[in-house]
Amino acid sequence: KQKSAYERKECDWSSDVCSSDLAPRPRRRRRYIAGPIAGLMIPPRILLVEDDPAIARTAAFALEREGMATEHVLLLGAARESLARAGAAALVLDVGLPDGSGLDFCRELRQHASWRTLPVLMLSARGEEIDRVLGLEMGADDYLTKPFSPRELVARVRALLRRALLTPAAPPASTTPAFELDRSE
Ligand code: CA
Repeated sequence: KQKSAYERKECDWSSDVCSSDLAPRPRRRRRYIAGPIAGLMIPPRILLVEDDPAIARTAAFALEREGMATEHVLLLGAARESLARAGAAALVLDVGLPDGSGLDFCRELRQHASWRTLPVLMLSARGEEIDRVLGLEMGADDYLTKPFSPRELVARVRALLRRALLTPAAPPASTTPAFELDRSE
């Protein structure tokens, strides 16, 4: 007697259609990830761009106490170099820096295929609503006003990392990126 596809265990139990009836299916992107993650360093590497040494020290101490690895740079030029060299799981970015504006840098990152989805938390001494809106419109994922509590900084960075893990990076539109972080595996 001829066995059905179900009996031959050729069925995809998540679907009404037997796999033998289907063309090979495209590989699914895994949404939830267990274990080490390609493209995301463990411990997560946080790049801190801040020209005030006291604030940078406080932030780095708080993040490292929570198991994150930090690199602190004072200038946007050094931030570009660091991202190209070592990447980052997230960026904590001051708005007012000696060699430029964090807002402009954030916009620059969003236009770059490799850094379009890099989680960015902006820091600013100015708390007016206009700055907040501008920061988010420039592509920041979150915004923190100085002075801030180290605990709040850590909580916000952790939230950004969590969100980044649960949302696989969109495939780049047309360009072939040089440093694409592959979060799909
Ligand atoms: Ca500053």
